Amino acid sequence: MTGEVALSLGASGHSCADPRHLNLPAGPRMRFPAGWALIEHPVQGAILFDCGYGPRARDAMRAGLRWIYRRAIHACSSLHTDAATLLHQRGLTGDDVRMVVVSHFHPDHIGGLAQFAKARFVAHAQAWRHISESGWLGLLHAQIWKELLPEDFAARLQLLDDNGRRALDGDLATLGEGWDLFGDGSLHVIGLPGHARGQIGLALRTRAGERVLLAADAFWRREQLDRQQELPWLTQRVAMDDAGAYRETLRRLARFRDTHPGAWVIPSHCAETLALWRQRHPGAVLEALD
Ligand SMILES: [Zn+2]
Repeated sequence: MTGEVALSLGASGHSCADPRHLNLPAGPRMRFPAGWALIEHPVQGAILFDCGYGPRARDAMRAGLRWIYRRAIHACSSLHTDAATLLHQRGLTGDDVRMVVVSHFHPDHIGGLAQFAKARFVAHAQAWRHISESGWLGLLHAQIWKELLPEDFAARLQLLDDNGRRALDGDLATLGEGWDLFGDGSLHVIGLPGHARGQIGLALRTRAGERVLLAADAFWRREQLDRQQELPWLTQRVAMDDAGAYRETLRRLARFRDTHPGAWVIPSHCAETLALWRQRHPGAVLEALD
């Protein structure tokens, strides 16, 4: 059937945080894999949704304010967990990647972009405008590290704006509006505002017929979708572009999940969701023990 793709999940590095920062019960520090996805499209080839940490993020985190970020969240990444390295498990190199859909511009999502020299990039116009128009303090506050971007990033960038956005239909209708990325119904980009300006997710159907929504950082742990709880004030200050939009996005995703019990809603950093995917799809996870 057309419009269906193969999906593998990857993780390139991780960070750790206190569960109370997400209003979850107290316990040991939780580990958050820096997740991404490989989508193999029958016509368009290899497409990534984000790429985790990577060499440039490691370099950046060696000094100054970036070093403080690394220490604060115990960020960890190494060569053997880089997305471009893990793709070898699929017989692919960085140069085989035709497109990277950038959910948002935080370092744990774009740290490896420079390894994909032949890829086009897709991002929301609002996210790019925010980067282009912010000074260093604004970028620091938004946790955007421009040095992670390839030098020719803008030249390879395709922006999604209001013009191409349409009401979604079928089982995606509850999600509102989105962009049909290739016009073939295989990949729909969904706006997920709140955590970061212009954050986007990706809806697809696998060859096994499963509906999947890659939800980026719309939430971090699957329990959050059930609990729908307010985040602590400090988390809202540090990790939110717009707390109201975050809550609305979370409600929209919960509604989608509730009306489509068989669908996978996969946030970028949920170790438990990754473990469930691994269990149900042996071989469809690209990762290295680190
Ligand atoms: Zn983020």
